[in-house]
Amino acid sequence: MTAEGNGKKKIPKLMIVVPCYNEEAVLPISSRLFLTELEDLIAKRKVADESQILLVNDGSHDETWGIIRELADNDEHFLGLSLSRNYGHQNALLAGLMEAKDKADITISIDCDGQDDVKAMEAMVDAYAKGSDIVYGVRSRRDTDSTFKKKTAEGFYRFLQWLGADVVYNHADFRLMSRRALDELANFKEANLFLRGMVPLIGLHSTSVYYERKERLAGKSHYSFSRMCSFAADGVTSFSVKPLRIITWLGFLVALISFIGVIWAFITAISGNVVPGWASMTCIICFVSGVQLICLGVMGEYIGKIYLEVKERPRYIISERTWIDAPGSVWKR
Ligand code: UDP
Ligand code: MG
Repeated sequence: MTAEGNGKKKIPKLMIVVPCYNEEAVLPISSRLFLTELEDLIAKRKVADESQILLVNDGSHDETWGIIRELADNDEHFLGLSLSRNYGHQNALLAGLMEAKDKADITISIDCDGQDDVKAMEAMVDAYAKGSDIVYGVRSRRDTDSTFKKKTAEGFYRFLQWLGADVVYNHADFRLMSRRALDELANFKEANLFLRGMVPLIGLHSTSVYYERKERLAGKSHYSFSRMCSFAADGVTSFSVKPLRIITWLGFLVALISFIGVIWAFITAISGNVVPGWASMTCIICFVSGVQLICLGVMGEYIGKIYLEVKERPRYIISERTWIDAPGSVWKR
């Protein structure tokens, strides 16, 4: 329900959703930042007194879950949710959002490392009050990222847009979503999650707020170069069949080149000059087999995706909650 739908009377209950994986170094600092901002929003009467922060432990191997439990024990603003193993950033975030959707009117998802500016939350809540169901946090600058990360990330957004996936340029997973938007997101059943591509598909009224992305407060990024590449491949193959179409066009192009090659071979053959040409033949064979292998790889990516989707495995399994609101909701040995 949008604020407008509420006649702007009700102060919305906010749930800040934070996925955390091996974040023992940063969580004690960033949790305080989140709490200060939440208290500030409550004091300004922008969000309801019962607003909370939901910390999702994505199968961490360090003290992260211990820290979350302690926060939840000592302050009722904090809730903790633990997944049975490491499912990855996107799945952990979805788990948190799906838990939060029945508990709050609006959610704001944010990384746990302090890179996203908590101060932008106020503008997001204001945009919701003006009628937006989805508010994207967009990085106005990327000064703190390395040039390599900046260029590859920006190139990736452009590439995705060119492929036809409707992603918001320079927006990651810092966003506000209303309960209505989350109810719609719950109907997206895919196992391959790429939330920043899925959320724009929901439609509804949406807008953006701009913030400056900072450096991590502590700890280091979990996205290595290879993980970034596989995330990018997921993004492309989950949202566009254009690569398959490109393969078809490539096939036509190679067929055309081969046709010209055949005419050329024919002409050289009748002119009696047959022996030279070994090098050019080798080059053509290498080129064509390279193209074929790439095309097979791209198709394999899609078949792999179908394979993962048809199995319909759960996208995450919750092992523990720090609250009890339904029988059997706390799993303990
Ligand atoms: N994260 C997670 N599960 C993972 C990897 C990361 O929940 O398997 C969380 C992590 O704790 C952080 C957010 O996802 O809150 C973004 O991760 P990170 O800061 O490492 O990514 P980057 O900002 O470098 O893209
Ligand atoms: Mg980060």
